[in-house]
Amino acid sequence: MSWDWVRGHAGPKATFRAAVDRGRLGQAYLLVGPDGVGKRRFARELAKALLCDRPPAPLTACDACPSCAQVEAGTHPDVLSLRTPEGKHELPVDEMRAFCARLARTPVRGGRKVGVVEDADDFNAEAANAFLKALEEPPPGAVLLLVATGTDRQLPTVLSRCQVVRFGPLAPADVAAVLAEHGVDDPARRDRLARLSGGSVARALALDDEAIGAVREELVGGLTADRPNFVRMAEAWGRFVEDAGKDTAAQRTRASAVIGFLVDALRQALRLAAGAAVPDLDPADEARLKAFATKHGPDRLLELVEKCVEADYRVERRVQLVLVIESVLEQFTRKSA
Ligand SMILES: [Zn+2]
Repeated sequence: MSWDWVRGHAGPKATFRAAVDRGRLGQAYLLVGPDGVGKRRFARELAKALLCDRPPAPLTACDACPSCAQVEAGTHPDVLSLRTPEGKHELPVDEMRAFCARLARTPVRGGRKVGVVEDADDFNAEAANAFLKALEEPPPGAVLLLVATGTDRQLPTVLSRCQVVRFGPLAPADVAAVLAEHGVDDPARRDRLARLSGGSVARALALDDEAIGAVREELVGGLTADRPNFVRMAEAWGRFVEDAGKDTAAQRTRASAVIGFLVDALRQALRLAAGAAVPDLDPADEARLKAFATKHGPDRLLELVEKCVEADYRVERRVQLVLVIESVLEQFTRKSA
């Protein structure tokens, strides 16, 4: 069935099903959640279900009629979408005006209009102002879907007129399944990326390059060495982050991925210390992690996991990355409290 295209997100699916079942579909929804978990895919599937010529069940697209084919191809005349142009950081007000004008016209295929603002994080006051009338009094039957990463990034005028639907991170198995669809063929690689992805397909794909293996070796190999060289590790980590380019979101993704490696390695060391098996562990890793665990003991390992999780939180809060990197590596040099 059609909704199977959208992995996870049982909560948002149930929200819209319940609204349709009760005949109380709203006119404006803010779909909020982390990057790369499938919110835009969800919006497209919802548009398809709302416009399908022959829905096999309520709010379910048939995936076979002309309307479904047009939505899937991005050519449906009644599905309007607005994005922030490449290289820009805000929704241009003239494009917003054109979007609203098209929204106000009678539906071409006789159903309803669905308007998708794909980058609702990028409203400026002017664009929001131009949008306000459409948001307050949408044309009859029209449904507006705004896609955003956080409610804290929305202007109050926009936020107060939308119903908020929250999307969480995907389960690792769902991320792995989407990676398979994206042509990541090696199952072990898929699982590793899925574990490091934090539930975001975008992040998993950003991490799928060879530099990852090298930086992991520098960090995990470096920490478990007899005499860790922290300057060298900080440099390797810093370089890996900077290689993401000027995009700070991509830099944070990379910084956080390295923390993910460290947490993974620490957890594996803890399991080995407790005499448990770690499936799929490389034999070289097993030997050095065991030695690391014996050297530091489980309490210290747990303490380090905690410090890493704190550091990841600081990465998310946009603390300067070089400070986070230094503070994490400093934790590893410190004697246990
Ligand atoms: Zn259909």
